[in-house]
Amino acid sequence: MASGTPSRTAPPAPVGPEPWVPPQLRLVCLDIDDTLIDCTAAIRRTLAVLTGRGDLWPLWDLITEEHVAMVVAGQLGYEVMHHRRTECFLAELGILADFAQVASFEERRRDILSQSWRLFDDVLPCLEWLRAAGLQLAAVTNASGTHQRRKIADLGLAPFFDHVAIAGELGVAKPDPLMFHSACLALGCDPAQAVHVGDKLDTDAIGAQDAGLGAVWLDRDDTSRTGERAPVGVHTVTTLAELPELLVSEYVTVGVPAQRAAGTPAAQLRDRVL
Ligand SMILES: [Mg+2]
Repeated sequence: MASGTPSRTAPPAPVGPEPWVPPQLRLVCLDIDDTLIDCTAAIRRTLAVLTGRGDLWPLWDLITEEHVAMVVAGQLGYEVMHHRRTECFLAELGILADFAQVASFEERRRDILSQSWRLFDDVLPCLEWLRAAGLQLAAVTNASGTHQRRKIADLGLAPFFDHVAIAGELGVAKPDPLMFHSACLALGCDPAQAVHVGDKLDTDAIGAQDAGLGAVWLDRDDTSRTGERAPVGVHTVTTLAELPELLVSEYVTVGVPAQRAAGTPAAQLRDRVL
């Protein structure tokens, strides 16, 4: 370098955002009731058959929510909850029934209900796609073990699942992280490599997110347009038919690189912001 020529050092390379690295996906956890099985329709039909009235679903749903909350809080087991829920339902209708009468009503309700289960139309194509993609599948469901395993078997769902985690068998219920982690542990999968899909925003989607899994809220009634909104990081779909595209866009699934397809809302937002 000639004498007198000022020396220059190369300017530091500009520091930009870390490049987005799509997470690996190995496990898809699925809720059962009102995610895969149309429980609401089955319960509506059953109540109408038992009472001759078609207007009792809202009352049953409200009583169920109150009693399931006690199960989630660890105050009741499922079998006791089922009996008390029916006792409370009958009392609201002005029917004071003794223990045997409540048990008889509950038994008839279960018998009729077991004939009424139906899968949503989008379930089997989605499960077949997930299996074909090489993903492991787990059912993660808040229910009593005996009845849920029977439902899963009767509807032909059992062969799809590598593991079934049921609240009534584990002694905890979603949104407790143990529910999600038990499935991950059983299948040797890190929670960060798993996604949970369910119809309840709080117990399914937010519970899974808090447990470190990817979270997908299945909003079949499209209520997110007018009411409940998913928090940042929770994906929303209105049908399981949308799930494959979402997973391919957001995750590296087995043998399928994440695409973040231009045109998806997530991709458009990312391109605008970063
Ligand atoms: Mg559900």
